[in-house]
Amino acid sequence: MFDMPTEEFRKNGYKLVDWISNYLKDIEKYPPLSQVKPGEIFARIPSTPPQNGEEIERVLEDIDRILLDGITHWNHPGFMAYFNSTSSGPGILAELLTAALGINGMLWKTSPAFTELERAMMNWFRQMIGLPENYWGIIYDTASTSSMHAIASAREQLNLGIREKGISGRNDLPKLTLYCSEQAHSSIEKGALVLGIGLDGVKKISVNEKFEMIPEKLEEAIREDIRKGVKPFCVIATVGTTSTTSVDPVDAIAEITEKYNLWLHIDSAYAGVTAMIPEMKWITKGWGRADSIVINPHKWMFTPMDLSIYFTRKPDILKRAFSLVPEYLKTQVDDEVENLMDYGIQLGRRFRSLKLWFIIRYFGVDGLAERIRNHIQLAKEFANWIDDEKDFERLAPVPFSTVCFRYNPGDKTEQELNELNEKLLENINASGKIFLSHTKLNGKFTIRLTIGSIRHERRHIEEAWSLIKTIARR
Ligand SMILES: *Cc1c(COP(=O)(O)O)cnc(C)c1O
Repeated sequence: MFDMPTEEFRKNGYKLVDWISNYLKDIEKYPPLSQVKPGEIFARIPSTPPQNGEEIERVLEDIDRILLDGITHWNHPGFMAYFNSTSSGPGILAELLTAALGINGMLWKTSPAFTELERAMMNWFRQMIGLPENYWGIIYDTASTSSMHAIASAREQLNLGIREKGISGRNDLPKLTLYCSEQAHSSIEKGALVLGIGLDGVKKISVNEKFEMIPEKLEEAIREDIRKGVKPFCVIATVGTTSTTSVDPVDAIAEITEKYNLWLHIDSAYAGVTAMIPEMKWITKGWGRADSIVINPHKWMFTPMDLSIYFTRKPDILKRAFSLVPEYLKTQVDDEVENLMDYGIQLGRRFRSLKLWFIIRYFGVDGLAERIRNHIQLAKEFANWIDDEKDFERLAPVPFSTVCFRYNPGDKTEQELNELNEKLLENINASGKIFLSHTKLNGKFTIRLTIGSIRHERRHIEEAWSLIKTIARR
């Protein structure tokens, strides 16, 4: 009638750790992209729950028997799609400990070590990327959540009484608008739709030939909206956009947000971690002028899903927007401590900072920087290989570790090229060797290759390139 006996846990725990160790050691024997058809895995799972308990051994066996075919292996070095999210050894160990401790870190009192380790890790990470001390950080699950909290703070800063009176049924509120480039991530629009700004309250500013927001267009749009009687309140600059990893000109944008008194949020979910490398410091130009910044260690800092860091200079506004303390959560030390539930939509919180503690200590700042730097160098090399071939074409600059390109043998219309490259991507992914993703740039079907897995070595990039050439020219 109680939990699994200690000895049974110990024995099967070792077995699972063995499974994980072998899985990661032999990961290259799997295809990175799962090749199952929709519904295939579901059909293997009994449609009703077991009435009586089963041996845990049976469950462990079914990882292989039922799930494995349906796993897309994000930790596979042939995974070069989207942005990598890979699990390092120390990150996996920290997840295990998180589950064992089972802490809900809603209040300082519900585990002082939780709140204080998170504070310490935010200070470490702030220093690693060279942000000034007036930035306060908190961990959320994803960048989507972080950016939603940024937009909520920007709205709270307007003092429109939205916390008390809401938005619906009011005719005393102006139409609110926020601005981002047409290359910004869809999470910005999701934040707008959940906060009552609406999709039509998101103004997409056009970009230059390098896919960077044009600040003059931003100011034009703001002035036009003010003239029409709507109220601009927030601008999102993206440092490392999702399609091409372009970098919006933060300094020039900050000039405008300061002039019109708008909240400036920087979305650097993917690229932000590169700020720990001295030669990449340029990406943080103007960051000290931002009201908030989001960076995802779960993308390019070898942290298992999920862990997103949100920095803001105005935690008081975040707290004003979200703090709501029912009687049962009041404590005697509320005046002396930080209760993290006050700074966001969720009450319960997972012990995510353990992952940062394990990972930063195990690799060290230099070790992390060295790995990320290596990925950037490999991407530059890959971009050169593309540039050196007459029948391949690069479609965007490569500031980080993502390369946008297409096959272009030179005798095709744009329409034919789109079809050709779509087919090429399909064939590459069906090879079971690598997994790439795509985007559309100025109407062109674009293949994207991204490097950022902790398991990426030079040979993987060489093999990918040789495979891409072979399939394209076939
Ligand atoms: C990946 C990404 C996001 C979304 O990240 P989640 O953590 O999955 O919500 C947002 N913005 C940018 C620029 C991204 O690259």
